[in-house]
Amino acid sequence: MKHGHYKPSVLMWLFCFFNTLSREVFYMEYDAAIIGAGVVGSLIGRELSKYDLNVCLIEKAEDVAMGSSKANSAVIHAGYDANPGSLKAMLNVRGNMLMEKLARELDVPFKRIGSLVLAFNEKDMLQLEKLYQKGIKNHVPDIEILSRRRVLEMEPQLSRKITGALYAPTAGIVSPYDLTVGAVENAAENGIELILGKKVLDIKPYKGKFTIIMGTDVIYSRYVINAAGVYADLISAMVGETEFSIIPRRGEYMLFDKKIGNIVSSIIFNTPSATGKGILATPTVDGNLLIGPNAHDIKDKNDVSTTAEGMQEVLEGAGKLIPAFNQREIITSFAGIRAAPSTEDFIIKASQTTKGFVNAGGIESPGLSAAPAIAEYVRDILISEGLTLNKKKNYYLVRRPVIRFREINDNQKVRIIKEDPRYGNIICRCEKVTEGEIVDCIHRPAGARNSDAVKRRTRAGMGRCQGGFCMPGVVGILARELDIPADKVTKFGGNSRLLLRKTK
Ligand SMILES: Cc1cc2nc3c(=O)[nH]c(=O)nc-3n(C[C@H](O)[C@H](O)[C@H](O)COP(=O)(O)OP(=O)(O)OC[C@H]3O[C@@H](n4cnc5c(N)ncnc54)[C@H](O)[C@@H]3O)c2cc1C
Repeated sequence: MKHGHYKPSVLMWLFCFFNTLSREVFYMEYDAAIIGAGVVGSLIGRELSKYDLNVCLIEKAEDVAMGSSKANSAVIHAGYDANPGSLKAMLNVRGNMLMEKLARELDVPFKRIGSLVLAFNEKDMLQLEKLYQKGIKNHVPDIEILSRRRVLEMEPQLSRKITGALYAPTAGIVSPYDLTVGAVENAAENGIELILGKKVLDIKPYKGKFTIIMGTDVIYSRYVINAAGVYADLISAMVGETEFSIIPRRGEYMLFDKKIGNIVSSIIFNTPSATGKGILATPTVDGNLLIGPNAHDIKDKNDVSTTAEGMQEVLEGAGKLIPAFNQREIITSFAGIRAAPSTEDFIIKASQTTKGFVNAGGIESPGLSAAPAIAEYVRDILISEGLTLNKKKNYYLVRRPVIRFREINDNQKVRIIKEDPRYGNIICRCEKVTEGEIVDCIHRPAGARNSDAVKRRTRAGMGRCQGGFCMPGVVGILARELDIPADKVTKFGGNSRLLLRKTK
């Protein structure tokens, strides 16, 4: 179908007309509609929220950061992996550069701890040399190949079998869901509309506008930005573009309790393979140790299950890097799905056939690292596609800071509890999360609506007991603050109710 010449049928008009009458939600017209509230869509939203525009961010899940942006290695790569000249290389290095200031503005934890790619033999050393040369071409600052002795001085727990490593001091770690939540909150404070729990089912371009159909809701927009992650190919196909497909590639992880301590202080990689950067071991911004991911192409874009074989593979891969970790300190496992594009590179460009439609698809790793730069890049594409951008007179660059009770000193604790005694009530004992923090995260823009959303924002339930103690408390607070019965509180929306019936 040639979409420039698309004519809506009478049936389509009637559908939209009656929808508009019967819908409880909206008949809204936007300058730009972004599909997908992962880290990419959310940072694009935040970037556009600085301008005098009417923008919406549509997400099918009941919270933001529910796709790849929820479950990944959380590494801000230095930028030596991608092929020189590719979008991946350019946007990774720029995104890394932007991350520090962005994290400060959004009050998101980010630590520049550096990364090491380990070599175990001559072949690996040649691979390191290739990565080093790519890094130089990609303008990665300060990378160097270190001798075995230097590496072991830096990281004494690493395998004695190593022969050297590529060191990239600009690599870092971030909390990927905090980054996404922070970006959306800031964008919402600046006036963009977040539409949660609405799946885009179809998009009809007509006379310089798009009709976006989400079940019984229909909205209109002059521009559409496709940031739908692993589903970006299906969204693109809605306007007749089928030039790329997305292969779901699952990666499984294991997370260790903080008790394991500082086994490593930087991000430790194996030498990369054909399917990715290989299994790594890294501290998280919250002080855990994370190992994984493996890489397996799967059929189902939703399948985030973990497998016994996968866990074994992860343990073996990480065990090669750090032989002596205590497996008893593993507290959970999870999986994320990479949006591997049929092209080698990110697909970030305006449609050639459908004016006003912009793809930001195939954003596999290093997509998290590149996301701040992708947001700028998409903004510039929109300008070249004719969208006029005038800066708002007033907008918030800085998100309202978050109180993280466990991180503040005793004097600050006393003052905060005096102002609001709910900060004196610890709900999650493992992570020391207070009632005050949970209430706050529910009432912020784009606030938490279910227990997983509370967990991502506050860490209640992320500790050793994985929610065993705090879940009833979290459910009670959600029910009270949202004014709903406790048995309507869900884990992640939909039918995922936590309380089903009374026990005898
Ligand atoms: C295992 C793994 C490890 C990784 N490690 C790293 C790393 O260490 N460093 C790094 O830089 N990158 C890493 N990445 C890549 C990074 O996570 C992604 O590039 C990034 O999260 C992509 O963000 P996104 O917003 O494009 O996609 P997503 O986060 O998947 O967001 C897309 C959103 O679109 C929504 N959506 C889809 N279809 C529709 C629809 N029809 N209607 C409405 N909404 C829709 C989805 O629900 C989803 O929330 C890793 C990825 C994986 C899976």
